[in-house]
Amino acid sequence: MPEYSGPIPVPTPETRPFWDAAKRRELSLPRCRACGTLHYFPRGVCPGCLSSDLAWERVSGRGTLHTFTIVHRGQKGFPVPTPYVLAIVELAEGPRMMTTLVNVEPERVRIGMPVAVLFRDVSDTIALPLFEPAASAS
Ligand SMILES: [Zn+2]
Repeated sequence: MPEYSGPIPVPTPETRPFWDAAKRRELSLPRCRACGTLHYFPRGVCPGCLSSDLAWERVSGRGTLHTFTIVHRGQKGFPVPTPYVLAIVELAEGPRMMTTLVNVEPERVRIGMPVAVLFRDVSDTIALPLFEPAASAS
């Protein structure tokens, strides 16, 4: 397991399926059975209609870089090495995820670039979904 110094997410009843899927190398998001909205982050009710009738759905893990910033000075209490690329990825299925973009030189990062998910184990039970440049968004 690669060295990781940052905080380890603690699953809640609402986020447990997300983390269990990530450990299996799958990106899974809740979809509302009432209105069809697929959403991130996982929560107990649909952000579109407030229904609690949600079902988990595996998504492609592909998308495009919506926006980003390069963090040079880490936040207190978030002890990960800098610089790193803090990104918002728009998934092919629509929802946007805040994540970290890896395996790219910060000066090569461009809004709109195709990206794909990868998973980094940070504990025996948690794998973080990160993103890296992809050949195409298809
Ligand atoms: Zn809904």
